[in-house]
Amino acid sequence: MDTKNTNHSNVHPTINMLVQLQELILVRSEQEAVMSNSRLSQLDTAIQSLRQNLPPETYQLFQKIEKKDMLVTVPISNNVCTGCGLILPVSLVHAVRAGEKLHQCPNCARILYYQNFLPRRLSKKMGGRFAPRRTGIARFSSPELMIPTMKATERDNVIAELAGKMVEEGFVDNGAKLLDEALKREAILNTAVEYGLAFPHVRGVEGGGLTLALGISRKGIKFDAIDRSLSHIIFFIVIPTAASVFYLRLLAGLTQSFLKKDAREKLMNAQTSEEVWGVLIKATRAAIK
Ligand SMILES: [Zn+2]
Repeated sequence: MDTKNTNHSNVHPTINMLVQLQELILVRSEQEAVMSNSRLSQLDTAIQSLRQNLPPETYQLFQKIEKKDMLVTVPISNNVCTGCGLILPVSLVHAVRAGEKLHQCPNCARILYYQNFLPRRLSKKMGGRFAPRRTGIARFSSPELMIPTMKATERDNVIAELAGKMVEEGFVDNGAKLLDEALKREAILNTAVEYGLAFPHVRGVEGGGLTLALGISRKGIKFDAIDRSLSHIIFFIVIPTAASVFYLRLLAGLTQSFLKKDAREKLMNAQTSEEVWGVLIKATRAAIK
């Protein structure tokens, strides 16, 4: 299991450990949300070892914040704490960037770190001030983000195709970086689950709400090098840090909706983006409010 890919050079080693720990805790919760026991014990071991290697005072601080919320360590984006949205004093942003010691948000007390060059969500689409009030899955996606027949035939290209779709439709910038971040997440633990579903995603895309694209592959994609089953229904999701915990509920809802063979078959038979969209709305109506 690769846990070194969130390495930030020139930054206090404790901050690196905290960032990795946060990611593993969220990855573990994702496994629970999709009802998968795959590699839970491996994750637990990695989490436990990171916890034990934290300096005692940092460990205490971590536990204290963790009691209130699953999100303990959060990046700064555009001088804002992504945990609570507070605009941070410039001096604090500089101090966090310097990375010489740990700093907490003055409002939510979460531990802050600085992260360079993440893709940004473009806010011109959806959820605008004049957008009609939406419910269910329509809050996070739209028909133009549905790909009824993906061209790509292997995992990395599938993620690239879905990320490219989001960029092309004006939802997110920097497709190359988006793909890069999604593959880093796959390296920790691949996001393919049972029933031919896969949930590649990127956390920390700020500047708007959570956004979801969906691609169908009739032939199937080999997502996991270990598991021989193929993924046919691939959800690609960009997640602002503050929505990380909500994402776990969405993930559970999507899994629950497509446990049903009937729902999966309808999706596989949809021929156009509009048809895929129609099936997605209907299938998720009960589980995603
Ligand atoms: Zn905060």
